Amino acid sequence: MKGSLNLGKVSGIKIKVHWTFLFILIWVAFVEINSGGNLQAVLFNIALILVVFLCVVFHELGHALTAQHFGIKTKQITLLPIGGIASLEKIPEEPKQELLVAIAGPLVNIAIALILYFIIPVQQFLANNLTNILENLNALTLANFLFYLFTINVILVIFNLIPAFPMDGGRVLRALLAMKLGRVKATQIAASIGQSIAIVFLLLGMLYNPFLILIALFVFVGAYGENKMVQSLELLKGHTVSEAMLTNITLLKPNDTLERVKDLILSGTEKDFIVEQGGTPLGILMKTDVIKASNNPNLLVSDIMKTSFKEILFNDKLRNVLSLVELHKGHFFPVMDTNKKLVGAIDMTNINEFILFQSKLDY
Ligand SMILES: [Zn+2]
Repeated sequence: MKGSLNLGKVSGIKIKVHWTFLFILIWVAFVEINSGGNLQAVLFNIALILVVFLCVVFHELGHALTAQHFGIKTKQITLLPIGGIASLEKIPEEPKQELLVAIAGPLVNIAIALILYFIIPVQQFLANNLTNILENLNALTLANFLFYLFTINVILVIFNLIPAFPMDGGRVLRALLAMKLGRVKATQIAASIGQSIAIVFLLLGMLYNPFLILIALFVFVGAYGENKMVQSLELLKGHTVSEAMLTNITLLKPNDTLERVKDLILSGTEKDFIVEQGGTPLGILMKTDVIKASNNPNLLVSDIMKTSFKEILFNDKLRNVLSLVELHKGHFFPVMDTNKKLVGAIDMTNINEFILFQSKLDY
């Protein structure tokens, strides 16, 4: 994520904080000053937020380290005002593994809450009558600090376990459903439930808490995206790149002029091109680069083509190349046969068309 500050590394996983995190600190200080709090009260609350987010880092590490146990790497953990995000390279497809990875985060907060329960100790803290407790809670003491931390960890557990896929509780739900119904159906159901809960979050957020609106959007978009990904992967199952690739394409030579490419773009529907010599791809020429350079008609294709690109094998499984192509949206990939000869090209538009045709066949 852009605009993030590196905080360090734990077990090879980068921990980052996004600049928008500053907003939450400013907001906390603003609320405190607005309600007549002094500098000490402001610092008390900011310290509390920082320690809460330390607990969030531990929560995300719970997910990441459990995933690591199943051989799945985590690119980074990012702290945002609405919480933390552990960017796992992939979600385990085995329901039991997903269940464990998802539950590991809330389990960390349960552990922290339990430890605090005995340190404070909460029982003694709550032994007083209610009016006394409420009055005492205003004091800026260590005991109160720990009590707030305990309460927030309990709330974090409850909140995260709401079955709003792709939040933790929703992942637990998906994993449990997948054990009975299979991953595709399970994701469909979990995503629908997630999106319904997101709408409730949105309404509650508009009434009470703006952060809930952000979470609602995150859940709604996340549920849609993950459901689409799982359905697409299912439709691509058993198919190879050769079934979907473009074969009717114009190939360019390195010494072709930009004038020629401009004519090709204007007179046909092709946008991106492969530059080759004797069946070996040398570069990729994108329409955007052609337009950028079009004020210089003396340039040759070899002057502006991209020379770093990934080749895809024609017998690769479409399922496996989907994430690579999706990650580099807008790129154009040469497809090679086993003799390293160019046989076609593939891009995201192409794969999406294939998915659309498959969806008409299968359902
Ligand atoms: Zn979590």
